[in-house]
Formats: sequence, structure tokens, C-alpha cells
Amino acid sequence: MFKKLHLKLTLNITIVLVVLVAIYSFIVYGFIYRGNKNPAQLILREAVSHVSDLNEIPDYPPKPKRFPKNNHKTVNIFNLKFNKDLHYVLRNTDLTITATTLDEVFDDDSLKKYALKVLKTKGSLTITTEINEESVRMITAYINKNGIEGIAQVFYNRDAEIFFMTRLMTTFITIGLLSIIVLVIISWYLAKKALEPIKKSWQQQKDFVADASHELRTPLTVIQTNLEVLESCENETIADNKQWLDNAYAETRVMSKLIDDLLLLAKIDAKQVALEQKEFNISKIAVEVSAQMYPLFKKKSIVFTTSIVDSINFNGDETRIKQLIIVLLENALKYTQEEGKVSLTLEKKDNKVIILVEDNGIGIAHEDKERIFDRFYRADKARFREEGGTGLGLSIASWITSLYDGAIRVESEIGKGSKFHVELKIYRK
Ligand code: ADP
Repeated sequence: MFKKLHLKLTLNITIVLVVLVAIYSFIVYGFIYRGNKNPAQLILREAVSHVSDLNEIPDYPPKPKRFPKNNHKTVNIFNLKFNKDLHYVLRNTDLTITATTLDEVFDDDSLKKYALKVLKTKGSLTITTEINEESVRMITAYINKNGIEGIAQVFYNRDAEIFFMTRLMTTFITIGLLSIIVLVIISWYLAKKALEPIKKSWQQQKDFVADASHELRTPLTVIQTNLEVLESCENETIADNKQWLDNAYAETRVMSKLIDDLLLLAKIDAKQVALEQKEFNISKIAVEVSAQMYPLFKKKSIVFTTSIVDSINFNGDETRIKQLIIVLLENALKYTQEEGKVSLTLEKKDNKVIILVEDNGIGIAHEDKERIFDRFYRADKARFREEGGTGLGLSIASWITSLYDGAIRVESEIGKGSKFHVELKIYRK
């Protein structure tokens, strides 16, 4: 699927780039063409203006007396040698040739046709045409000077110009073809770069759906098995089979927590979690959560101690901060054996709140330390499911810390215990 998309994207980017290059080349070519045409027309007009006697070819362009220093006016981009290349045909009002630079006037009928046209309008006509099978740029102008009326035709052969424009076109096409190859490579790379995050999130989504269905199937199977046992004991009382009911009930709680976490993660992915932004006493929250957790620690004979600095104010979403502390304490409870020790510390350092949750429980292997913050990751899948874990708590905790420009890290050693260290910015810009 992504291969096809990659190809399609490459093609689209290439088309856009090629069209842009083509437009750019077209504009540049057009400018150069005009850049030649305009001065050429000026020179032809200038050449005509030098005609003062129909029997005499003017000395135009005049031969420079000394080397011209700055001759921008007459130098055009092709550097045509007008001295040599400009040809004159001068006529009287009968259109008879009175003077010419040509040894022989070929195709005089065509020239006459333009002369006649201009004689009627008494204006001038600049054209690009074919005379005697040669392409020429020509001006035909009506002359009325010193009481003399007539027609002056000045033209030059466009060979040099055509040669230059053909060269330019060939160069453009060659560069264009080469740049298409380069553009295809660039497009391939750009498309790959553009697809990478999509690919990643697609893979994440796929993994997420697979993991979620797997996680949901497990408690369902347990519930089904327990209910099947109950069904087979039709004649017994509920009290006799309380154990099966308790099992099923416990699994519904796991399922319910799992569904809550899944919904939250889906909202996180869709960036649809509504967050509150208000100032609250985070010390009070820590004390409240500790009080809720205390009986659970006690039930497992775990010594739970707290060190909470009074009245630290925090700016953010109270529910999420509470959820963060609960995740850490519930994990400490789950992964610490009976008669172990768990402590919660809350303090302030500069513009940061520091939350530390330390236990002397089972600890985390070095290779698992990075991965425990991934969705559905459990160091020991089969064993830790029994503790009621979903493998989502720490990924949610990590998301909450990210909301407050914070960081979460763990120090841990197998068999010795773990220390979760959270830093949150109190005020963010
Ligand atoms: P779970 O719901 O499985 O606890 P979490 O995302 O909260 O999911 O934790 C991921 C994994 O990290 C756990 O399955 C466990 O292997 C490990 N873990 C988390 N906290 C602790 C801890 N305090 N001690 C040992 N292992 C822990």
C-alpha cells in the first residue's frame, strides 16, 4: 500500500516540479527572445532614420572613430555585426530601386509588396519574414525628407539569431531532461520523508488495534470460563460459587479500566482531550491520593510513607495530575511484594514540581526500562496481567508529563526496587 502511495506521491511531486521548471524556462526563453527582438527593432528604426537621400546608402552604423568605451546602445545580446549584416533597399514612390547594398535583389516582388503597403499608410512596418528563402527581420518605412518622398527597406538575415535561439532551446531541453532525472530523485526522497510519519502512525494504529483486541479478549475469555463453570453448577447456591462470580467481577473491572484507558489514548491520538488550565494546590492532591491508597498498601502489609511539601501551587489540569500520581502509586503497589516499602515525595525546585515514587519491589530489568513507557508493554506479560495491569498506565503518565514540559524517568534494579522521578513545570509560557 505504501509502495503504491510512494510512487504516486513521487509522480505528483515530479509533475509539479517539472511544470515549475518548464514555466520558468519558458519565461526565461521568452525574455531572451524579446530581449533580442526589441533592440533589433530599435536598430532597424535607427537605420531608417539615417536615410536622407534616396540615392545614397547612409553610413550606419557609423564606424567608430576610436574604440567605443561604453557602447550599450548598439550592442545587442547576439553581438550581430550590423556593419556587415544590415542591408538597405531604397526606392522612390514608383517603387523603383534607387540605391541598395545588395549586389542583386532577389525576390523583389515580396519586398515591393511591403513597400506598397507602407506607401499607402505613409507609416512603417517591422516584420519577420522569408525573403529568397531566408529568414529576415525587416523594416519598411516611408521617407519624407528634404522634399524627397520614398521608401526605405532595411533588413538583416536572422541566421545568427536563429542559431542562437536554437542553441538556447537545445540547452534548455538538455538541462530540462537532466533536471527531470534529478527531480525524480529529489521527489522520491521528499515523498519518502513525507510518508515516514504517516507510515509510523499507521503502524502504531495497527499495533494499537491488534494489542487492544488482544487485551480485551483475555478478560472476556476469563469471564466466559467462570460463567461456564457457574452454568454447570445449576443446583448449587450463589454462595457456593462465589469464587467464580468474584473472578468474573474482577475481570469486568479490568475490562472497564482497559476501556477507559483505550478511550483516553484514542482521544490523545486525535488531540481531543479537553484539558483544564487552572491553579490548584498539588500538595493537597498528593495528600488525598495517598489517603485513598493507604488502605490498599496496608492490605498488602506494605509500609507506605509520604513526604509532601505543603501548599505547592500548580497550574494545569487537576484530574490529569491526580491520574499521574495514581498510576505511579498503583504500580508501586502492584510490583512490591508484601511487607515491602513504598514512599511518595513531592517537592518544589525553582519553577518545577518534583514527584518521586520509590519502592523496594521486584524492580525492572535494564532492557525493559525504556520500553515500559510504550503502550501495552509489560515486562512480563503473563505474570503482570494477573496484577490487573493493562500496560497503558505509564504511557498515559508519560503523555501527562509531556503536557507540562516535564520528564519522567526510572532508576531501577531487578530485585531491589524502582524509583520513578517526575518533573513538571509549574508555569509554562
Ligand atoms: P501496567 O498496567 O501493566 O502496570 P504500566 O504502563 O503502568 O502498565 O507499566 C508497564 C510495565 O512497567 C509494567 O507491566 C511493569 O512491567 C513495569 N513497571 C511499572 N512500574 C513498576 C514498578 N514500580 N516496579 C516494577 N515494574 C514496574
